[in-house]
Amino acid sequence: MTQDTPTTTDAVDPRATLERYEVWFLTGSQGLYGEETLRQVEEQSRAVHAELAGALPVKLVWKPVLKDADGIRRALIEASADDNVIGVTTWMHTFSPAKMWIGGLNALTKPLLHLHTQANVTLPWSEIDFDFMNLNQAAHGDREFGYALARMGVRHATAVGHVSDPRVQQRVSDWTRAAAGAAAIRELKLTRFGDNMRYVAVTEGDKTEAEIELGVQVNTWGVNDLVAAVDAATADTAAVDALVASYEAEYDVDPSLRGDGDRHGALRDGAAIELGLRALLAENGSAAFTTNFEDLGTLKQLPGLAVQRLMADGYGFGAEGDWKTAVLVRAMNVAGAGLPGGASLMEDYTYDLTPGAEKILGAHMLEVSPTLTASTPTLEIHPLGIGGKDDPVRLVFTADAGPAVVAALSDTRDGFRLTANVVEVVAPTEALPNLPVGRAVWEPQPSFPVSAEAWLTAGAAHHTVMTTAVGIQVIEDLATMIGTEFLVIDEHTTLRGFRDEVRTQQTWHRLDRGF
Ligand code: MN
Repeated sequence: MTQDTPTTTDAVDPRATLERYEVWFLTGSQGLYGEETLRQVEEQSRAVHAELAGALPVKLVWKPVLKDADGIRRALIEASADDNVIGVTTWMHTFSPAKMWIGGLNALTKPLLHLHTQANVTLPWSEIDFDFMNLNQAAHGDREFGYALARMGVRHATAVGHVSDPRVQQRVSDWTRAAAGAAAIRELKLTRFGDNMRYVAVTEGDKTEAEIELGVQVNTWGVNDLVAAVDAATADTAAVDALVASYEAEYDVDPSLRGDGDRHGALRDGAAIELGLRALLAENGSAAFTTNFEDLGTLKQLPGLAVQRLMADGYGFGAEGDWKTAVLVRAMNVAGAGLPGGASLMEDYTYDLTPGAEKILGAHMLEVSPTLTASTPTLEIHPLGIGGKDDPVRLVFTADAGPAVVAALSDTRDGFRLTANVVEVVAPTEALPNLPVGRAVWEPQPSFPVSAEAWLTAGAAHHTVMTTAVGIQVIEDLATMIGTEFLVIDEHTTLRGFRDEVRTQQTWHRLDRGF
């Protein structure tokens, strides 16, 4: 096997993925209005579309105004059939009797955003006549549509206000990013190298159910396949040379690992692991993967640097066979594409329990994405007491301070539960000279005791995705789209309310699934 210097394919690159996606902008009306009014509806629909399109991270495609049941059904079937369409927005500019939408909504398989807006911001009070009223009646047209959505139980989000309002633009943008994340999950082929870490409960899960509910395909390859790919990469010394040179350009490389350093061979081993991983994932068409330190075959090191770099390129990753977290990391990499910050596997590791100033120190053995910092990581080598392999190379850095969300997916036996906590990443209280890994320190909302108790009550996982690129709204919209239970821990959370919410969500989802 011969490899070139690795480049992330467009299928994985989050920005390229967003560029491929589109949302359809659908406007509802009906034939009763007559040609002149419908001409004005179209004109205003195009203007609203143009204003909104400029504020969104994916292409917003205007579609002709929908006036009857057949046209509506065809439009929603076409949106459902097109792999690049990640959702539709619907706006009943005029009155569009909602029974006309039933056939279409029954056929729709993509996320829906009910855009409750109108063409004008202010009312021309002194000039209003009944023609104006007749043309601008989303105030009740959208209520008719909302009834159909509620009656049919169509999962959806709603954005309310004029599209020139930055809050509305942000709301629609958040929904769009969530839809991109959901689409990335739906088209995801996840490669697991080996199974789960022995005896661990929360990283297990029903992979068939995941494909039914979320769309993701989760399949396992023997670690020997990865070993073979890494061996082939090791033999391609030119490719290893090129990758090592790019490490030296990109990171602050420890002198012992450089070309003339006594541990340079370990860096070359790390580079070969990266090349082999990339080759095998490309062959599988995978944008996410898992490893397990208990099952490394004859790999010389636990993949650390390689995993960190692949996450930074947009791949999803979960350690110890944790495919559910790998799904979330991939989704958040796509949802946050182009924004400052990033997404990474994270693990609540240890606490500073100073009363009233508690902090969580998160890390993993090695595998934290350097997209959590804007500074240049150092590339180092240190012993790892677990796994029984050669010392692994890894990127060392501290996550930048700022707002973040940690989210975890757990299997509830009959579905999935997404639990998310709004947190603030802070600077470590003191330097961490003896902790040579990527790490983050954070303070959870609403407080450490409430956050931790709520997290434990939810049975949420110790592995999470940490995103510093998108906020809680995106995660909430994603949960609606993929149809999981959703539990949020934020500034409003109380333990009494949270315990009730856990029961409500569990009950609702069991009923909603049917029998
Ligand atoms: Mn772990």
